[in-house]
Amino acid sequence: MDHVWVPVRLPLGDKSYLQDITVYLIKTDTGVILIDSGLNVPESYATLTNLLDQEGYRPEQIDALLLTHYHLDHSGLALRLQKKFFTPVYIHRNDGKVLEFFRKHVGSYTDCVEEFFSTFGIPDQTLTRIKRELEPFQELLVGPSEMQTLEEGQEFETVSGNIAAVFTPGHTPGHVSFMHTKTRILFGGDFLLEREFPHVGIFPHTQQYNPLKDYINSLEKIRKLRVSQILPSHGKVIRDPERRIADVYGFIQNKIADIYHLLKKGPLTVMQICNQGFGYEHDALSCFFLLTLSLAYIRYLQEEHMVVAKRDKVGIRFTA
Ligand SMILES: [Zn+2]
Repeated sequence: MDHVWVPVRLPLGDKSYLQDITVYLIKTDTGVILIDSGLNVPESYATLTNLLDQEGYRPEQIDALLLTHYHLDHSGLALRLQKKFFTPVYIHRNDGKVLEFFRKHVGSYTDCVEEFFSTFGIPDQTLTRIKRELEPFQELLVGPSEMQTLEEGQEFETVSGNIAAVFTPGHTPGHVSFMHTKTRILFGGDFLLEREFPHVGIFPHTQQYNPLKDYINSLEKIRKLRVSQILPSHGKVIRDPERRIADVYGFIQNKIADIYHLLKKGPLTVMQICNQGFGYEHDALSCFFLLTLSLAYIRYLQEEHMVVAKRDKVGIRFTA
């Protein structure tokens, strides 16, 4: 391995709507650190182990698997690596709790989704379609039982200076990025992507959070850190982080204003806010993610005291 780190593109098979994920191998004195691990599908596993082999490493030489967050395309292979090679896996405690939730509800996650969404009056027909689409993912939610907790600022040695954990919640409650302290290059996971906006939503397993607020704070935190580049998990390197942060920040502020104005015109259900504010999606999986996104904006506006919830004969409706 000539460089200090190597980006590795892992295919995600046909179970994900994303094509691939970039994970990073970083050289240490004794082996490598791996940032994220790919989906638990044979394609991801084969590509990862072949690349390690090409670079002259055995899988046992992964000193640490650092998970930016507990999403299937990032954390999927963690269990397999831990079982087979005793790889130490690190994650932030908030996403560790998400993993516990999945473990507790193994095989019944779609029922949790149904129960959670039905409190907001999402129509049964929509719920049935969403449940059907989510079903195949249930078996992939299981993760390692033993994880080390990542703390803010925790450092890991590489052959060229340390990388430090930077807590960047929003996309998930325990999302962590890693900064190479010498060059200020940030391994950003899904914190910031070059083309799309990272999804921010409220799910049955993250009901207690205000993810949009967390995400806005994370944008501000990374802006102040003045990182030199961001190496994301999907898409191209972000060479001008400050500009990209400003674009995403501006987009979110406009969207907050749009939803607020929408709710000034009268009470709306979550489904109505979703359709009118974020667009109608026929595809059940897209609809699911847009509903969770709508909930994140509603939560944000509620906690800023700009929107209130009212329960009437239609169900829960929101008004500004
Ligand atoms: Zn993600």
